[in-house]
Amino acid sequence: MMSTPQDRLGEVLARIDAAAREAGCDPAVVKLIAVSKTFAVPDIVPVIEAGHRWFGENRVQEAKAKWPELRQRYADLELHLIGPLQSNKARDAVQLFDAIHSIDRPRIAQAVAEEMARQNRRPKLLVQINTGEEPQKAGVKPQDAREFVGYCQGPLGLEIAGLMCIPPVDEEAGVHFAFLAKMARELDLAELSMGMSADYETAVQFGATYVRVGSAIFGERPPPRP
Ligand SMILES: *Cc1c(COP(=O)(O)O)cnc(C)c1O
Repeated sequence: MMSTPQDRLGEVLARIDAAAREAGCDPAVVKLIAVSKTFAVPDIVPVIEAGHRWFGENRVQEAKAKWPELRQRYADLELHLIGPLQSNKARDAVQLFDAIHSIDRPRIAQAVAEEMARQNRRPKLLVQINTGEEPQKAGVKPQDAREFVGYCQGPLGLEIAGLMCIPPVDEEAGVHFAFLAKMARELDLAELSMGMSADYETAVQFGATYVRVGSAIFGERPPPRP
């Protein structure tokens, strides 16, 4: 029999619980973000109906097309932006999202700070770290992290909740998760957004407080259009 998104959600939650217990962590600390990018409203509804409330999208435009109607139907949803943000989308992002995991340069931080003041909204903010120092990947270089977080907290007056990373595909994720966890401790930041379908249990063992899981819940995504 084919598994449903509800079955798969239950499976992922059970695995998170087991991984946390095995690592001696409190499972309640780990929040599962169901990444619904590329999936349409009818695909998302069953997961909400199954009781899940935390969702992630990686594009502002796509989220804007899908989530306002869902928010009207379900009052207590939490929507997280996990993909890169352009400063011209800061207004929509601050309006739509409860958390932004991808703050990674001064221009973005400034634009988000301005919009937060203008809209009187306070999404939770995380700084993305490019732990693998990959040229094509978003995120602050590890050696610049302290200065950048300080800039956000000081001159911009932003509360930074934690750090996020996406490890290089061809490297052992655990090394990157350990590195990010150490950096968060040194910077005195509580939240750690790390781990995807392939490696969320590893991330939990290294102290993730948010795991971002898409295909393990919603199924394989169609390949991106050229
Ligand atoms: C798509 C995406 C995920 C989820 O990926 P899966 O492998 O489908 O779990 C997590 N984080 C980010 C930043 C993403 O873009």
